[in-house]
Amino acid sequence: MRIPLTIISCSLFFHALSANGQMKKNQSLDKKKATYLNARKALEQQDSLMAFDASIVLTQEEQNAEEKLGRLRNKMLKDYRENHYFPPASYFYRWEKHMEESQLFDLLKKMPKGGIHHLHPVTMQDYDWIVERAAREENCYVYWEVDNNSFVKGQLGFFKHGQQPTGFYPTKELATKNPQFKTELLDLLTFDNSISNDSTDIWMEFEKTFQRTGKFYKYQPIFKEYFRVAIKNMIKDGLQHLELREGLSFTLYDLEHPEGYYTPDTTIQYWKDLENEFKQEIPEFSIKIIHTFLRFFEKEKVWQDMELAFQLRKKYPEMIKGYDLVAEEDAGNTSIYFLDNWLKMDSLQMVYGVDLPLYLHDGESNWISNDNLYDAVLLNSKRIGHGFNLFRYPALIQKVKENNICVEVNPLSNQILGYISDLRMHPATYFMNQGVQISISPDDPGVFSYTGVTPDYWAIYLAWELDFQALKKLVWNSIIYSSLNEKEKEMSLKALEKKWAEWIDYVNSELN
Ligand SMILES: [Zn+2]
Repeated sequence: MRIPLTIISCSLFFHALSANGQMKKNQSLDKKKATYLNARKALEQQDSLMAFDASIVLTQEEQNAEEKLGRLRNKMLKDYRENHYFPPASYFYRWEKHMEESQLFDLLKKMPKGGIHHLHPVTMQDYDWIVERAAREENCYVYWEVDNNSFVKGQLGFFKHGQQPTGFYPTKELATKNPQFKTELLDLLTFDNSISNDSTDIWMEFEKTFQRTGKFYKYQPIFKEYFRVAIKNMIKDGLQHLELREGLSFTLYDLEHPEGYYTPDTTIQYWKDLENEFKQEIPEFSIKIIHTFLRFFEKEKVWQDMELAFQLRKKYPEMIKGYDLVAEEDAGNTSIYFLDNWLKMDSLQMVYGVDLPLYLHDGESNWISNDNLYDAVLLNSKRIGHGFNLFRYPALIQKVKENNICVEVNPLSNQILGYISDLRMHPATYFMNQGVQISISPDDPGVFSYTGVTPDYWAIYLAWELDFQALKKLVWNSIIYSSLNEKEKEMSLKALEKKWAEWIDYVNSELN
């Protein structure tokens, strides 16, 4: 059919008109989009300038490694999403094995990590070693009956034959008689998937594990070997600096000398010997101690302990770096309960002529009423252990930034002890974005059935979708905010830089 020309030209005219209109419309939409995207970018930029890692500038090699490692991470995230399962969102013990078998774990294990700020020394050991060692030690006994007020099943200790308390049996004998003994003991000493992560019960179980090993590692003939092995594991995990929260008032003992015979000086000397041993091979290796006591005690008893801490700091200023109170925050005394102690510290400072910086464990709680962080900040805590509920206090966040206080974040500990289940929701991402400086620690790795701090890094690299800038800042913060003096820091950072560059080369050669 022939279409009249007028109709064709009319329709062409209208078509051209509407195409023109469409173009104009598109143009104005494009313009709108560009304006919108620019505004979005500006906000993103504003945020990234505020972030804790804003000062980090990556080299070309680092950018290449970032791209490659990022690709590996994104592929993992895609697979997890397709499978509707994201490991860091569920309980650690369900994916521990999967993590260990991943290429990412291997790469992060080799990553130099600087130091650990938050570590309770007994738990830096591989607990398989404790069990193996206990099973062949003469004079080693274990309480192997139902828990009572004095002892818990699995509690280890060394005694002269015949002098062990009722209910204690020789570990060597039990290991020979019962093929399951070692597995059962390891089960008692550590956490696994069978543990409930209900916060109240889990702390009871958690504290029992310390009771079980407390008299094992403080046995004088075993102490040095215990930590020689433990430190080797830490070095294998890419660490060069350790800060230990250690209760030095609980002294070593042996078969001839009960607790109290040796003084804290012996323990400190042993730590120094160990540090020197490792320094022979790794000059930048360092150990510092933050003396701790328990927040369950009365203020008078804590005051006596603080006096001991001042004495030790005066004697060993290069080793004893500060003071802290530990144990479950919600069950123990509040930080303000000890206010008299904190405010009277200047009198001890006058007597001993040294300061005693605070490194307080505070804010490890889900309870709204736990506001210990006010005290940690007002008392000028150098760093804050956990600081988990800092997100509740906007004014404190400002103060933490102004005072340049580093928050020691323990991601897996927080999950295992029941403070958070999905690590993507950990408040540390908020701290980082707000410009609060943080560092990563494992808290009690041995009890949690792992060694080092690599599992924490693995979990957060995925859960917080960290970029290389953030990863590097976390590692650097572990030295920058350590208690090392300026000269030590300089040396430590220099060594770290070298190891980091080697690791970057390794990542670039391993990944496509
Ligand atoms: Zn702790």
